[in-house]
Amino acid sequence: MTPVSCFKGRHVALFGLGGSGLATARALMAGGANVSAWDDSAASREKARVAGIDLVDLTTADWSQFCSLILAPGAPLTHPAPHWSVLRAKERGLEVIGDIELFCRERAGIAPDAPLIAITGTNGKSTTTALIAHILREAGRDVQMGGNIGVPILALEPPARSRAHVIECSSFQIDLAPSLAPTVGVLLNLTPDHLDRHGTMANYAAVKERLAAQSEYAIVGIDDDYCSAIYRALHDADRAVSAISNADAGLSEMVHFSGTRLRRAIAASPGWEIGETLVNLANARALRGAHNGQNAAAAFCACEWLDVPHDEIGAAMKTFPGLPHRMEEVGRLGKTIFVNDSKATNADAAEKALLSFDDMFWIIGGKSKEGGIEPLRPLFSKVRKAYLIGAASDDFARTLDGALAYEMCGTLDVALARATRDAQKSGAREPVVLLSPACASYDQFANFEVRGDRFRELAQQIIAQHIGHGSST
Ligand code: ADP
Repeated sequence: MTPVSCFKGRHVALFGLGGSGLATARALMAGGANVSAWDDSAASREKARVAGIDLVDLTTADWSQFCSLILAPGAPLTHPAPHWSVLRAKERGLEVIGDIELFCRERAGIAPDAPLIAITGTNGKSTTTALIAHILREAGRDVQMGGNIGVPILALEPPARSRAHVIECSSFQIDLAPSLAPTVGVLLNLTPDHLDRHGTMANYAAVKERLAAQSEYAIVGIDDDYCSAIYRALHDADRAVSAISNADAGLSEMVHFSGTRLRRAIAASPGWEIGETLVNLANARALRGAHNGQNAAAAFCACEWLDVPHDEIGAAMKTFPGLPHRMEEVGRLGKTIFVNDSKATNADAAEKALLSFDDMFWIIGGKSKEGGIEPLRPLFSKVRKAYLIGAASDDFARTLDGALAYEMCGTLDVALARATRDAQKSGAREPVVLLSPACASYDQFANFEVRGDRFRELAQQIIAQHIGHGSST
């Protein structure tokens, strides 16, 4: 835990008692603050009570006693409307901040030079955060990883000069962290997302831009117009900034993905020329696809800035295990590989998987999103057959009719058994049984994690049964 001592002897209001709220309350109390905590949910309040946190009904409390409101990132700061606790705080002129801000203030006090690597973007945050932490650990560094991934930031060990904190930041967390000024700030990409909570794309982009602009060294993707403009502005202001891309592009000193390689474009006369190969990702199984090329390029720049030698970065990328439910290889049966991409809850995410493999036996369906799978039509030729499950089946069948062979399977276990049967018989060089459902899971599962866990479990059972029967073709 990182005790927060900068509020020692002062009285703060804390709203939001989910995982990060509980950790924040504990850290503030450990640092000597007087904390009055509350949550709209009775179940969350009960958890806090059991944890020994002082509950005060903030709807009726006297706010003149508080110096700050510490807000959980799940509660709206501005849109669609400020949370009632934010209105109370603003009436009193109190600051409204979050757990990352508390960490940054603590760091400024006890270890201002401690490496802080902060990662944001619309997509790829968790993968890039986990990859950077993995590379640094493999290089023998003392690493703490958390924030929006896994462990709340204040539940991590405190900052120290030789300890790197690798932190995933959502836009909501950045919004609540005005003094976030990381050693390395990564901004991967920006596409419309969470606009209900940020009002406009311009507001959303401005929040993410702040992380890059306040970094000592910024790494910015240039594959979308918003991030490109942010890169240009930092570059033109002579800031320490590197561009990264998921494709060949001709900016000098840019790290980009090309084929299976990360390369650095270097200046050459008479024009720009593609320069050295930095890492060959051909054997990095958890980093398939151009989207992961962007994540790997960001991780490369971050670790290079922290003086990890290039060969160590490359070696660690090959041993990166990846994250569950994101194109996760869960097993093999002969030539067939089983891939759990349950996190792909919309067509955009499923597209990444379809681009990354060939000869797919594709399990799709669930609760469909607007637009369905129509945008994936250009990739249907890479798929051998589709296996439909859940509520979206009829809708998806209409899209597939005449374009791609499919079977109505109803449930995941049936789909997986039939896909495995067909993959085994297919004669393809490396058939892929892929769960990349392009749908939310709620019609049949509690969430995408439960769906992906079930896929992994079923795939491993099938593999065990085949091996038990002595067949592995
Ligand atoms: P986040 O933490 O931002 O949600 P993840 O690393 O968990 O991102 O990846 C979630 C999904 O986003 C992946 O399954 C993949 O479909 C897609 N994705 C990952 N990295 C990128 C990227 N750099 N650009 C676009 N999409 C990506």
